[in-house]
Amino acid sequence: MATLADSATRFARTPHPAPTPAAVRDEVLANPGFGTRFTDHMVSIDWSEEAGWHNPEVLPYGPIALDPAASVLHYAQEIFEGLKAYRHPDGSMALFRPQANAKRFNASARRLAMPELPEKLFIAAIREMVAADKDWFPTVEGGSLYLRPFMIATEAFLGVRAAKSYRFLVIASPAGNYFKSGAPAVSLWVSDYTRAAPGGTGAAKCGGNYAASLVPTAEAFAKGHDQVLFLDASEHKWIEELGGMNVFFAFADGSLLTPALSGTILEGVTRDSLIALARDEGLTVREDKYSLDQWRTDAASGQLVEAFACGTAAVVTPIGKVAGHDGEFTIGSGGPGQLTGKLKARLTAIQRGEAPDPHGWVMRIG
Ligand SMILES: *Cc1c(COP(=O)(O)O)cnc(C)c1O
Repeated sequence: MATLADSATRFARTPHPAPTPAAVRDEVLANPGFGTRFTDHMVSIDWSEEAGWHNPEVLPYGPIALDPAASVLHYAQEIFEGLKAYRHPDGSMALFRPQANAKRFNASARRLAMPELPEKLFIAAIREMVAADKDWFPTVEGGSLYLRPFMIATEAFLGVRAAKSYRFLVIASPAGNYFKSGAPAVSLWVSDYTRAAPGGTGAAKCGGNYAASLVPTAEAFAKGHDQVLFLDASEHKWIEELGGMNVFFAFADGSLLTPALSGTILEGVTRDSLIALARDEGLTVREDKYSLDQWRTDAASGQLVEAFACGTAAVVTPIGKVAGHDGEFTIGSGGPGQLTGKLKARLTAIQRGEAPDPHGWVMRIG
């Protein structure tokens, strides 16, 4: 058994015996969509109490065997990450702030009583994944290779306690534009449901949070909206975030505001990057509470001029309209705003290697 007691990480590599034919792959890469097609390989590392992390391997993408009693299937001991690999104009491949994902993964692991994965091993696994399927970068404008590292509890045991064995995997999916319609601005439905309560798992990136957001999201779709907006659990007053994206507000005085990290908001890498880029531009960025009532008032008075959501998958998405039981209101012109567009362009240019990287965020991987 290959263990990882030493820092030297050697992944066993088993190439796919029948990889996707180039013609089929090219068709996918010309129109990748989001999260529906997967590359030919995946990365896997096991963890047990006795051996720690062991068996690092790259293997053909495919179904995984789990004991029906595996804890993940019953008590949802599962965490994940999402990040993208980019093909730069010079042909090199790069990741964007993968250390931030590695850190957050471990923060999530601690909250879900799971073993932490050394940051170096997390990044090594991602590099292996991209190297194995480097021919899977989409050819479309704005395309990237979306990477999904995740960890599941594999111990066959129905008692309620942290499992004693885990599996870490990375899969990859070519990505185009996240929002199907490619809509210029999205419409939000303010949910009566809450996503996260104080003391809960809202700050951890765990599948359970997403399971709980599906009914509210379906409700938003049924009412004709694109996404759901969650308010805080205690007062149902303060804006927190969407099901999987953070939010920003832009004011007529040129300042920006994003809800402060309160323990119930997921600390987005995109959020953190945009705060830094906005400050680079000389803008004031506040991290504070902001209520739905204040948002409505500021949108009506013209104090608030733009709002947008952000996250790795969709990057930056303008918010055009907000609707709830108290009626709806429009943000600015209802279409994409100037500052929103400018920040998105700044961020994506750095990610894609089309602009200098003053913060050292880009990691070249070959
Ligand atoms: C992943 C996620 C985000 C966005 O984080 P990024 O690191 O920017 O992709 C925001 N909210 C939730 C609930 C998330 O799970």
